Amino acid sequence: MEERTIHPDLESILYTREELTVAVKALGEKITQDYQGKDLVMVCILKGAAPFFTDLIRSIDLPMNIDFMVVSSYGASTKSTGEVQLVKDMSYSVSGKDVIIVEDIVDTGMTLSYLKKVFQDRNTNSVRIATLLDKPERRKVVLEPDYKCFTIPDAFVVGYGLDYAEQYRNLPDVGILAPRVYEK
Ligand code: 5GP
Repeated sequence: MEERTIHPDLESILYTREELTVAVKALGEKITQDYQGKDLVMVCILKGAAPFFTDLIRSIDLPMNIDFMVVSSYGASTKSTGEVQLVKDMSYSVSGKDVIIVEDIVDTGMTLSYLKKVFQDRNTNSVRIATLLDKPERRKVVLEPDYKCFTIPDAFVVGYGLDYAEQYRNLPDVGILAPRVYEK
């Protein structure tokens, strides 16, 4: 196997690109089984979910529409403010559709409980959540993702779309950011 060096700002790697590929493909196959005959719309929450989203939709063998939304994020911080704002909305109606919201990580659950409500208010036929990572230890609201690839401990992770101060999104693996990076 090709020799790889770990990024110097990472404390450790949690999931390698190979493990991510296998998990995302398996999730795509599961969604393919579950959404036969449905009017599927996959909604990517930018920017963090972008790499996961593009891999996931290509693992789903069904007709679908895709769209993108932007919600407010942490900024250059590792803790959620709990305030969620819709920065960019979808470009068409989802009334009567079966929506899957695709997110990078569920942490406090505030973002997704807000988004779920937004979609329910738009008369969707169904709304489910697919997340790459779930960090249940920090949950502040009752929210269980319908689909997830991995459950992680309470650590701040970056890579495969996840950032710290807009950096590290392009790392192909998911790793724990060394605390010295955000504590300095
Ligand atoms: P929640 O509303 O569930 O607290 O937060 C969801 C958002 O917080 C995610 O979309 C992500 O942008 C950010 N977030 C939560 N935990 C982490 C983490 O460990 N690493 C990174 N990079 N972002 C996180």
